[in-house]
Amino acid sequence: MGERGFDATSFYEFLGEHRLMGSRCRSCGALHVPPRPLCPACYSQEMAWEQLGGEGKLAAFTTIYIVPTAMLEAGYGRDNPYCTGIVQLAEGPAISAQILGADPRQPEQVQIGTSLRVAFVDRGEGEKRRTYLAFEP
Ligand SMILES: [Zn+2]
Repeated sequence: MGERGFDATSFYEFLGEHRLMGSRCRSCGALHVPPRPLCPACYSQEMAWEQLGGEGKLAAFTTIYIVPTAMLEAGYGRDNPYCTGIVQLAEGPAISAQILGADPRQPEQVQIGTSLRVAFVDRGEGEKRRTYLAFEP
């Protein structure tokens, strides 16, 4: 793998390859997902890529009715809401992502602490094609 910047662009490029990647601080060992070029714990810029296993637990959860453009194009909206949540990864960091396999109209059925696994959702055609991060039970 070439030298990719520790930023959101690289993060999405990796998602396009169906890989969930973070940056590990070479100085203090902190793991950042999405990757960060500067460690907020020790201010080191010495980072190394680390692939995550994709296992996690649901830490928080909400239903989205007012959707961003990309999700509108994917068919979501006021009449077809979707779920988003914070997933605590097995490696420690927490990340926000779409939660699949949950009923957005019955969020009370979704249990905090549910074990989740990463899913890579490809949306759009041609140059607009992009991979989105999601998790499913
Ligand atoms: Zn550090």
